[in-house]
Amino acid sequence: MRPLIIAANWKMNTTPADAGELAATIAARTEEPDVIRVICPPYVCLSAVKDALKGTAVQVGAQNVHHELAGAYTGEVSAAALQGLATWVILGHSERRRDQLESDELIGKKLARAISSGLRPILCVGELLDERESGRAVEVVATQLRGALAGKDIDALLDAGFVIAYEPVWAIGTGRTASSADAAAMAEAIRATLVSDLNWGKDADKVPVLYGGSVTSANIGEFLAEHSIDGGLVGGASLKPDEMAGMVARAAITAKARAAAEGKPA
Ligand code: PEP
Repeated sequence: MRPLIIAANWKMNTTPADAGELAATIAARTEEPDVIRVICPPYVCLSAVKDALKGTAVQVGAQNVHHELAGAYTGEVSAAALQGLATWVILGHSERRRDQLESDELIGKKLARAISSGLRPILCVGELLDERESGRAVEVVATQLRGALAGKDIDALLDAGFVIAYEPVWAIGTGRTASSADAAAMAEAIRATLVSDLNWGKDADKVPVLYGGSVTSANIGEFLAEHSIDGGLVGGASLKPDEMAGMVARAAITAKARAAAEGKPA
């Protein structure tokens, strides 16, 4: 059974002065052993968030990592620098693809670095609005997957706990979501691409696929009702403890229901 994951992408919000308190409040309001919770604050808040989450099961993630281990890369942060601060990393977020012009090839290098450094990667993929409207969404996402994953060691990715987040770009921060049916169809297309284009075989079923794009406590249930979707990568709503509590509680119900359906304890 794939795990249920709620990952919070705080983007460029919070400061070292307030991030710890927010993280601690969220941790206290979301205690659910059947759901993996991850908080990804800005780099400079990682230490405060990690300290605040000590003794809780909430895990800490970075929002990016450089593909080289060290060197003349002004303003960048290495995987080595993240050791002890973060155990997860978001890669290929559409805001970085847009603003830092990150290519699939570069994201693939970051992915390799994350895996060799023991960071658990969340690879973000998703299409632009005109790509969806012109019927090219699956093709665009498949290209992103091939670009980042071709030639990668499948066992190493699985050992690292590799996660994919399907985030249609037009749904991020807009209040507009994909329909749950479209999100589920894309999650299935993602696993089908792993099989057909990247030779993952049955291992494709082991990869959690999250949905991201204006997820809230009010709509997450629709996505989690889809068996191919294993949680959410959440931006705006993840800064609100009430919202996080609602989303994680809903994911816990899903985890229990899926475990029961498979005849296993959650
Ligand atoms: C995100 O940052 O990955 C995201 C999905 O943002 P939001 O939930 O605000 O749309």
